[in-house]
This record gives sequence, C-alpha cells and structure tokens, in this order.
Amino acid sequence: REPKNKLPTYKGLENFKLLDKMGDGAFSNVYKAMDLTTGQTVAVKVVRKFELNASQAGEKHLNIQFKKKPRVTERANILKEVQIMRGTNHSSIVKLISFSESQEHYFLVMELMEGGELFHQIVKLTYFSENLARHVILQVAQGIRYLHEERGVVHRDIKPENLLFERIPIIPSKGSVQRPYDEEKEDEGEFVPGVGGGGIGRIKIADFGLSKVIWNEETMTPCGTVGYTAPEIVKDERYSQSVDMWALGCVLYTLLCGFPPFYDESINVLTEKVARGYYTFLSPWWDDITHSAKDLIQHLLCVDPAQRYTIDEFLAHPWCTAAPAPPPVSP
Ligand code: ADP
Ligand code: MG
Repeated sequence: REPKNKLPTYKGLENFKLLDKMGDGAFSNVYKAMDLTTGQTVAVKVVRKFELNASQAGEKHLNIQFKKKPRVTERANILKEVQIMRGTNHSSIVKLISFSESQEHYFLVMELMEGGELFHQIVKLTYFSENLARHVILQVAQGIRYLHEERGVVHRDIKPENLLFERIPIIPSKGSVQRPYDEEKEDEGEFVPGVGGGGIGRIKIADFGLSKVIWNEETMTPCGTVGYTAPEIVKDERYSQSVDMWALGCVLYTLLCGFPPFYDESINVLTEKVARGYYTFLSPWWDDITHSAKDLIQHLLCVDPAQRYTIDEFLAHPWCTAAPAPPPVSP
C-alpha cells in the first residue's frame, strides 16, 4: 500500500478525504475515504474517463486463475454499472452510496469493505476447511440468487478479487499450522461470524463493471426485442446466468484446495483446458475432501450450460444444506 502522503487529489472529490488505497486496476483506483460532510468512512472507486495505452495500463494484478479483460471505460459502461448497483439491495452485494463525475473521472462512492479481497485470504491461508468454505460460498450464492432470480442480472466477473470481506478477518499466522481453519477451531466460534466481533464475517459481491441485465424485472421478459432475435442469441440468453455458476464452481474449487481448477503457463493450453472442461481433483490435495463437495463442483464445472447447476440447484445440494460438523466430544 502506498503511504498516505502519496495519495492523489482529484478535482471533483473535494468533499472526501482519501485515507488509504484499497485496490487498483487498469482503469480504476479504489480508496478508503472519509465523507467530510457526513463523517462516514466509505470506499471511492475512481475511474479514469480516458483509456491509458496498453503499457501504462499494464498487468498490475497477480491473476492466477482468470484472464484479465481490458476494460473500455465508456460512459455507457459506467452508467450501466451504476444503474445495476443502484437497483440492488442485498446483504451479499456491495452497496453504492452515490455517483458523481468530473471532467476526467467517474466517482463511485460505495460502502467500505474493510476486509479486502477473498483472493488475499486464499493466498494467506492456502486453503479453507469445508465448513469455512461453505460459510463463505453460501453468502456469495445468496447474492447470485438475488441477482439471477430477483433482478435478472448476470454478474459475469465472479472471482476472488471481486468478493470482498466486510471486516478484516481474524486469521492465524501462516505456517504455524498446516491447516489453519480446522473444524475444531471453527466450532470454538473463532472463525464463525458475529462471535466476539471476530471471525471471517460477511463477504459481498463487488465490481459490476461487466454485469448485464438479461431480463426486464417488471415484465419478466428478456431484454431487447424478442420477435426478431436469432435463435442462437435466444439460446445464449437462456443460459447467460450459467457463466456465474461456472465461476462459482471455480471459486469453490479454489477455496477448498488453494489453487484454481484450470491453470497452465501457456494461455493457449489453458484456453483449451477450459474449453474441454478438463480439470482433476489432484491428489494429495483433494484426498480428504468429501465426495459431496466434489459432486457439487462437478455439477458446476460442467461444459454444457444446459446441464450445469442453476443457482437454485446449487443451493439445494446436500453439501450446501449440510449443517456444519458438530463440535468434537471432549473426553
Ligand atoms: P476493477 O473494475 O478495476 O476490477 P473493482 O470494482 O473490482 O474494479 O475494484 C478493484 C479493487 O478495489 C477490488 O478488487 C478491491 O480490492 C477494491 N475494492 C473495490 N470496491 C471496494 C469496496 N467497496 N471496499 C473496499 N475495497 C474495494
Ligand atoms: Mg474487479
């Protein structure tokens, strides 16, 4: 993180005092900031109106599992992101507080997710126990269910970098134990949300920059004129929500073992693996993971979108409905 004195000032953002940098991408910077009129601490996403050249934009992120798409910061795109966020109201979705713009930037003021990216927690912890993974993934899934079923929105960019923790999770130091989140500790309440103010807490879906409305909420019909739409488009639209389900499968897989289901040094080989849906439950990492978890992943990382689980099927799966393991009986 950059030291405080290196935080920039933006024309048009005079009502906010920037406190810290929370994240940066090719075209946006996200800051922790104080709203000087209300005293509220918020997150401000500052998006440059003009694209930088490719080398300036650069590959800033260590992006282990997903190819980073260059973002064209067109006005229409930002307005769509803002409009979709404005229309949402769910505890698993980051809230937009306000939107404004200057000549050079767009400013999205959001609720602050102090705990940062799930991505960083995976890096820190190596991997999550099934109970903890369930706790995290169910919150994400509730958010996706709300988007898919109540808003007709596809997120299209579900990944650990866009899943944010409300508070800084309490985690044991890396290396001290082989499996940091063991069931025993969880059951002591140490990693359960709301217990002693600690734990892993709430996680929310952020970054609606690639999201899309697929059906009209009022009329419950697909967006656009249906009558003249080509069958391949209609088909695509029918399964468009399934892209989030694939991504959810990738996130769940990664949570449980610490590495993504599809990876290769060569982008061509990686693309081919994804296209064929070629992944394995690699030994020894997957040896102790339940059959139920693997079964669920298999229904998500399924190449045919028509066969892939919908969000309702996901939530009804035994792995999701299972109660956390009871605390071990002490002798
Ligand atoms: P981009 O389109 O550049 O990926 P994001 O909306 O994903 O933009 O924000 C980039 C990063 O900024 C996120 O990955 C996260 O680390 C951080 N971030 C975004 N929104 C918030 C927020 N509301 N609170 C805290 N950090 C945030
Ligand atoms: Mg992002």
